[in-house]
Amino acid sequence: MSEDKKVSKRVLSFFLCLIMALLSFVLTSCNSEVKTETAEFFVFDTVVNITAYGENAKEAIEAARDELYRYDALLSTTNENSDIYKVNNNESREVSAETAEIIEKSLKISELTEGSLDITIYPVVELWGFTGGNYRVPSESEIEEALNFVGFDKIFLQDNNVVKDDPKVQIDLGATAKGYIGDKVAEAIKNAGCNSAVLSIGGNVVTVGTKPDGKDFNVGITWTDGKEICATVSLKDMSAVTSGTYQRNFTENGVFYHHIIDPKTGYPAQSDIGSVTIFTSNGLVADGLSTAFFVMGSEKAVEFYENEKYSELGTDSLDFMIIKNDGTCIVTESIYSNMKLNSDCISESDVTVI
Ligand code: ADP
Ligand code: MG
Repeated sequence: MSEDKKVSKRVLSFFLCLIMALLSFVLTSCNSEVKTETAEFFVFDTVVNITAYGENAKEAIEAARDELYRYDALLSTTNENSDIYKVNNNESREVSAETAEIIEKSLKISELTEGSLDITIYPVVELWGFTGGNYRVPSESEIEEALNFVGFDKIFLQDNNVVKDDPKVQIDLGATAKGYIGDKVAEAIKNAGCNSAVLSIGGNVVTVGTKPDGKDFNVGITWTDGKEICATVSLKDMSAVTSGTYQRNFTENGVFYHHIIDPKTGYPAQSDIGSVTIFTSNGLVADGLSTAFFVMGSEKAVEFYENEKYSELGTDSLDFMIIKNDGTCIVTESIYSNMKLNSDCISESDVTVI
């Protein structure tokens, strides 16, 4: 090789190295430029975690926080100024349009699930101490008495007024409001100019847009103990809402009691389901159905799905993963095709795809 050629080869490789170094500098600085903001709040008696990405991440978190506190003040059973407190204590019948919307949709879910979801369950939930955290096993007669005031047919909406059968009827939106709020917070995040965020409201996961790299968010589904991740699902602009016994429970005299009550008995629901996760774009529907499915048990839940009852709730698709107490699972096909199982936790042969 001539001396000239050797020199030009060296010059070429020098420039190649330079270009590669520049490229990697640009790529790393691009990456580190993705602003990430995280925040944790305690509202609705539960922990809310938010991660927002991009230029407007800070504004997104601020907008989310404002919405969370606004809804907490509106819907809490314990805040004396809330719509729900006033209705429960017969101080006012009138509620805001948003509270009325949640009540109306919750009543519709009750009707479609034959009362498995019932927002008038509050007197029973209170007896068990699941509101204040002073858990105890009530006597049979206490439960019987409280059940006299439970029934979704004991209230109705007249304009934005909640009309009750009896002043002792009280409501608790604990099973549906977080789903509704998740959607509203996601909207506030988008309106703040952020298109990449993920939030968890007491285990209800809502994704906004995609990850900063443009890929869908991966959401982990936990086993019935609420600990081990047994599957991951990639989701875009979607809610994943889980109802399980691990979220609030206590053990007394060796008996395990949890917070999802069967409105027909007044006792913690004893279905064949250990936990159920619903995937749909409407958070309220996801939340309400996750509680209802838990109470109904897997057979009725599958029937509900196959009869497309959810379409009456304005949702054109519904997916779910039911983990049964016997360790087997039922998963709908379209979410299954998006799901990675953790083989240390579930094997494919334990999953029935419908
Ligand atoms: P979490 O609040 O842990 O996300 P759920 O969405 O399943 O779980 O809601 C359970 C809460 O809803 C309970 O803490 C209680 O306040 C209330 N609740 C319990 N059982 C029912 C029921 N069958 N229908 C409506 N609300 C219920
Ligand atoms: Mg729920």
